[in-house]
Amino acid sequence: MTTLVDTELLSDIQRFGAADVSACFSCGTCTATCPLSDNDGTFPRRIIRYAQVGMRDELLSSKELWTCYHCGLCSDSCPTEADPGEFMAAARRYAIASYEPTGLSKILYTRPVIGSLVATAVAAFFAMFMYASHGPQDAASLALFTFVPEGLIHWTGVAVMVVMALSGVVGITGMARRVARSEGVSLQSVFGGRAALARSGAALWAALGVESIGQRRYREDCKDDQPAEPLYRRRWLIHALTIWGFLGLFSATILDWGLALTGVKETGTPIPLWYPSRLIGTVAGIAMVYGVSMFMANRLRQVNRAAQHSTASDWLLLVLLLITGATGFFIEVALYLPDAPAWGYWVFLFHVAVAMELMLLLPFTKFAHAMYRPVALFFYALAADKSKQADFQTD
Ligand code: SF4
Ligand code: SF4
Repeated sequence: MTTLVDTELLSDIQRFGAADVSACFSCGTCTATCPLSDNDGTFPRRIIRYAQVGMRDELLSSKELWTCYHCGLCSDSCPTEADPGEFMAAARRYAIASYEPTGLSKILYTRPVIGSLVATAVAAFFAMFMYASHGPQDAASLALFTFVPEGLIHWTGVAVMVVMALSGVVGITGMARRVARSEGVSLQSVFGGRAALARSGAALWAALGVESIGQRRYREDCKDDQPAEPLYRRRWLIHALTIWGFLGLFSATILDWGLALTGVKETGTPIPLWYPSRLIGTVAGIAMVYGVSMFMANRLRQVNRAAQHSTASDWLLLVLLLITGATGFFIEVALYLPDAPAWGYWVFLFHVAVAMELMLLLPFTKFAHAMYRPVALFFYALAADKSKQADFQTD
C-alpha cells in the first residue's frame, strides 16, 4: 500500500486546537501514563507520529483517535510539554471536519467569527420561518401549538432530521470505510453468517450500551478526577448526565409524538407533571441543564486539562444545549401559571428554533463525536474479540 505524505498535516491540525506536538520525541511517557493504552504500547504516541510525518490517511483511519477521553494525564506527564491530550482533541476536531464534505465543520471549528454568524443566522432563519406562519395567542390558556402550528413544527422537524441523518450517514460511512480498511474488516466478516452476526452484535452492545451509554471506561479507566472530588463534580458523571439528558428529551419528544399518532392524546393537551412524556422530559431536562452548566463552569474556571482549551464550536454546542434545556423549563413554568403569559409564546418559538438548529448542526459541531465514537468503539470491540480468539488458539 502506498502511503501519501501530507506535509501540511501537523499545521492543519494545529488550526483545530492549541496543541503543538512538534517537540514530541516519542519517549513513550504518555503511553505509560495513559489508562487506555493497551498491549501494543503505541497509544497515543502513534497518532502523534502520524501527524508529525504527514500520514493523513492513517490518522483518519485510526479507531484509537476516538477512544481517548481527554483526561489529560498524558499531558501532565509529558517531559516536553507537547500536550498530547489536547493534540488528540484537536485531531478529533480535524477528523470530524475531514469526514464531512460540506466544509461547515471546518468553518465552525477554525473561523469563530464566521461560525458564530452562521449559527446565529441558522437560529434566526428557523425563528422567522416559524413566526411567518404563527397563529393567534390565546390569552386564557397557553395554546402553544396554535401559536406555532403543530404541523409546521412536525414537518420542519422531519426535514431537519432527514438532513441531519443524511449528513451523519455520509460522515459515518466515510469514517467506517477508512477504519474498516485499515482494520481488515469486511462486510462479510461483520454480516456473513451466524457467528459473524453474533460477534458484531456483541461489539455493537459493547460500543453503544456499555461504553457510550454506560461510560464504562470513562468511569473506570480515566482517573483524572482527584479521589477527593465529590461525585457530583466527576467529569464522567457530568458527561453522562448531558448525554442521558439529551437522549431523554429526545425520547420524550418522540413519545409525545407517538401518543398523538396513536390517538392517546393530542399534542399540546394539558397534562400533569407525572404524565410519562412530561416526567421523562422534566427529569432529562434537569440532568442535561446540570451537565451542561457544569461543563461551562469547568471551562470558564479551566479546572482540568480538557477544559483548558475551548473552541468556538465547543461553546456553540454547550450554548445550544443549555438554551434548549432552559427554555423548556421556562415553558413548563408558563404552562402552570394561571393566566397565559405572552412571554411563554415567545420563549416557545425561540425554544423550537434553537432545538431545530441543535439537531441540524449535530453532524458539524462537537456533537459529532457522539456519532463517530460509537463507530470507533465498535471496531475496537471487534479487534479485542479477534485478539482474544487468537490468544485462545495459541493457548
Ligand atoms: S510523553 Fe510527550 S514527548 Fe513523550 S511520546 Fe508522549 S507526547 Fe511525545
Ligand atoms: S488524554 Fe487521557 S485518555 Fe487521552 S491519550 Fe491522554 S491519557 Fe490517554
